Amino acid sequence: MQRDSGTALVLFSGGQDSTTCLTWALENFERVETIGFDYGQKHRIELDVRPYLLGRIRKDFPAWRGRLGEDHMIDMAVLGQISDTALTRDVEFAVNANGQANTFVPGRNLLFLGFAASIAYRTGAKHLVIGVSEMDRFGYPDCRDDAVKAMQLALNLGMETGLVIHTPLMRLGKAQTWALADSLGGEPLVKLICEESHTCYSGDREHRHSWGFGCGTCFECNLRAAGWEQFRSSKEAPLASHELA
Ligand code: ZN
Repeated sequence: MQRDSGTALVLFSGGQDSTTCLTWALENFERVETIGFDYGQKHRIELDVRPYLLGRIRKDFPAWRGRLGEDHMIDMAVLGQISDTALTRDVEFAVNANGQANTFVPGRNLLFLGFAASIAYRTGAKHLVIGVSEMDRFGYPDCRDDAVKAMQLALNLGMETGLVIHTPLMRLGKAQTWALADSLGGEPLVKLICEESHTCYSGDREHRHSWGFGCGTCFECNLRAAGWEQFRSSKEAPLASHELA
């Protein structure tokens, strides 16, 4: 794909998915900016790893350095006040009667996209990039393709603009997300994401596993671990994984 001459604004939380999306954008757009949200999440550690990851990408990947621009941090404390979930309250992770994880912050991604669109309007960015996926996930309706496409339409109607929302992970499971990182930045990028990105809902940075830091028991840790194992075994036996596919 030829690199787009425009600017992309990446919703960057510091997790595996958004870090992979950031590097995807750096490969596909001439200029890339990032936006992050502080909404009182318990796993605040992800806000600490963000600037570190940005610094490492600048330092370790010279081809991307010149394209990586400003980082916008938005205070969304109000989201913590209006939502009652395991991400912002001190309760255990569970699945509710309606099949939704209690980590679901209602409309979180829609709110994030709305704020990102306002920033993009001001800075002139024509592209938003968000690391949502329909695969391997459950109970997060605002990660679905239909929801994102509807949001793109609403934003463009409401702001009279021509924003395009990109979702490079929409059809990818976690193993394929690792493989995408591998194709973009090779082993150094896979290692950086493994070591430094943060996904665990408990904010655990003490327990180191083959797939990175985390409690090892929460939903996101299990997902990340399973994806890592699948990615690693397919790298070691590419023929077998090809045959399986
Ligand atoms: Zn965890």
